[in-house]
Amino acid sequence: MSSYPALMAPLDLGFTTLRNRVIMGSMHTGLEDRAKNIDRLAAFYAERARGGVGLIVTGGFAPNRTGWLLPLGSTMVTHTQALRHRKVTRAVHAEGGKIVMQLLHAGRYSYWPLSVSASAIKSPINPFKPRALTERGVHQTIRDFARSAELAQEAGYDGVELMGGEGYFINQFLAPRTNKRTDKWGGSAENRRRIAVEIARATRAAVGSDFIIMFRLSMADLVEKGQTWDEIIALAQELEAVGVNILNTDIGWHEARVPTIVTSVPRAAFADFTARVAEEVAIPVCASNRINMPETAEHILTTTQVELISMARPMLADPDWVDKAAAGKADEINTCIACNQACLDHTFQNKTASCLVNPRACHETQLTLAPTRRTKTVAVVGAGPAGLAAATNLARRGHTVTLFEAEDRIGGQFEIARRIPGKEEFAETIRYYERQLELTGVDVKLGARASAEELSAGYDEVVIATGVTPRIPAIDGIDHPKALSYAELVRGGKPVGERVAVIGAGGIGVDISEFLTHESSPTMDLGEWMREWGVTYAPDAVGALTTPAPAPSPRTVFLLQRKETRIGKDLGKTTGWVHRAALRAKGVQELTGVAYERIDDAGLHITVDGKPRVLDVDNVVICAGQDSVRDLVAGLETAGVTHHVIGGADLASELDAKRAIKQGTELAATI
Ligand code: FAD
Ligand code: NAP
Ligand code: SF4
Repeated sequence: MSSYPALMAPLDLGFTTLRNRVIMGSMHTGLEDRAKNIDRLAAFYAERARGGVGLIVTGGFAPNRTGWLLPLGSTMVTHTQALRHRKVTRAVHAEGGKIVMQLLHAGRYSYWPLSVSASAIKSPINPFKPRALTERGVHQTIRDFARSAELAQEAGYDGVELMGGEGYFINQFLAPRTNKRTDKWGGSAENRRRIAVEIARATRAAVGSDFIIMFRLSMADLVEKGQTWDEIIALAQELEAVGVNILNTDIGWHEARVPTIVTSVPRAAFADFTARVAEEVAIPVCASNRINMPETAEHILTTTQVELISMARPMLADPDWVDKAAAGKADEINTCIACNQACLDHTFQNKTASCLVNPRACHETQLTLAPTRRTKTVAVVGAGPAGLAAATNLARRGHTVTLFEAEDRIGGQFEIARRIPGKEEFAETIRYYERQLELTGVDVKLGARASAEELSAGYDEVVIATGVTPRIPAIDGIDHPKALSYAELVRGGKPVGERVAVIGAGGIGVDISEFLTHESSPTMDLGEWMREWGVTYAPDAVGALTTPAPAPSPRTVFLLQRKETRIGKDLGKTTGWVHRAALRAKGVQELTGVAYERIDDAGLHITVDGKPRVLDVDNVVICAGQDSVRDLVAGLETAGVTHHVIGGADLASELDAKRAIKQGTELAATI
């Protein structure tokens, strides 16, 4: 019997059966937007179908050009497009999978000047103001959705998902926040939901009964003047009545000021909302958001009436997620750590999505790791993300690999990162690599600081992945007992007092501020998280919002940088605002344009705006960037050993684990 029987049980929809309960949720990868990328898109989905996913949902395709996400963005409006998509559906069906096309009208989130919405109200996250759709336009849009669904059927898709959440067009009609209409498409809740119901009804009429229609329902808008709980349930029931087969769920608008998918959101944070929807309808309801491991999914399926689990980013991270879970090998899953760094952050920069822990995602046809034809003996030095990616992929390709690590455990700087409150998921990546090292037979030498001499004999090639070391800035008194590096604080467990200054406000300075403003236990429970961000289950709450009440910080923290720019400016597009809001909530005092004078018994002496100031702090934590560790390079060059330098050892500036793992994987593909 499977370790996850509920998750692996087939689901009979009457006219078709899903092979298990795992839905790969919709993700816009960027490959959808260009016809030339159709083969890459097909390979991307086929690999997930081969890995056992029950049902795949594509990225969003607009039912007309006014609804596209950006000019020339993905649409499904012509027979030519339908014909092209047969490559995708054939590839997925050949692997035994099923796939539905998501139909997404962006409404006022469309990034172009001709966008439309329920009313002419600009979104705070888009410079373009939409025009209010005329009644004729409403009827045309309903027809457009139905027509796109027909084209998706012609393309061989098993169904469509109608995007009704995240603050997109349909959601804009549903909520009083964006719908101020006085005709039959606005005003009362019944009028506001009319377009959603009519789109579903027209779609069903167009495609017949044996075609999956999913509706992505916003369970909680998490914005002011969002929908109430009663309105959401009434919509769910009407959608069921007009022939929707599956209710997929969704949480929060893009403009919501509550995080919904970043790594600090507790796992399955919103499953209780979904469970309550599932009690009100007979059709299968699907839970989503921050579900990334099989035990979490199984727990939801066995303790609630929810019947399906949607995971999107976890399928980028590991295309074989389902097969591994089915085989009881959850410890082999390459877990999505919800960092957004290579997926959503890429999407918002108009770059093709990928994955920090799996750089092959969306590059399946380009980054291949075929077995080697000539086995080599390779030494990899450093078991940080770069070295781990290189060592495991080299061994997987058939090379004989020895991995040297100076510390007594693997992980490198990531071992520090995973101890930051809200970054607990990072431990999963270390667990994944630990298991992969075993499976691929890498000879791991811990507590072994490799020397150039040792590496100069017995290896065909050497990979230097020795990473970085914290930079110690030249400030008077830097060796005062009050001063310590972030590594000494987090990894070394050095105690600090109640008033602390943090020098350097890059990604690590921000993380250290979070570390210092939380109690010693790093894991935040769901209740605490909901209080911190002001989310409530109260049925009468509009948009599921209440007043935030974060737990007070145990310390007074000053976060400093020399630049005049806003603190955290260079953090990820989809995560930076969450870090900034969290620091504000904890009362972290931010100072920019700072000159550091000295550290002494009185504290940290600084100058700001030409005025001297003393921060009477107990400790000063140094987060002033890092320097590459390259001490092996010269020796190997002298010895004439073929070597490669990757990750932080290659370049410390603008280093992150995304680059480290990508460099390690790409190098492993070429040796
Ligand atoms: P490292 O991680 O530095 O690993 C190098 C390894 O080599 C070390 O284990 C070291 O002991 C070993 N070594 C050195 N010399 C020798 C030798 N001679 N012999 C044997 N072993 C040796 N990145 C992100 O992408 N996203 C984040 O959210 C993020 N958050 C972070 C939060 C914190 C608090 C920290 C500290 C880092 C964070 N990072 C994050 C950065 C990320 O961890 C680094 O970019 C990444 O670890 C660099 O990988 P690397 O393999 O190049 O080097
Ligand atoms: P960083 O982003 O380069 O920040 C270093 C900070 O130190 C800056 O604020 C810099 O600002 C300051 N600084 C640099 N030299 C200094 C000096 N000599 N004296 C005093 N201050 C100095 O590096 P990091 O914070 O160490 O992070 C390392 C990498 O890890 C980052 O590149 C990042 O990609 C990754 N990371 C990512 C995340 C994430 O959430 N995505 C989180 C953590 C880390 P001033 O020069 O203005 O003072
Ligand atoms: Fe998950 Fe990060 Fe990969 Fe995105 S980049 S899929 S959030 S691990």
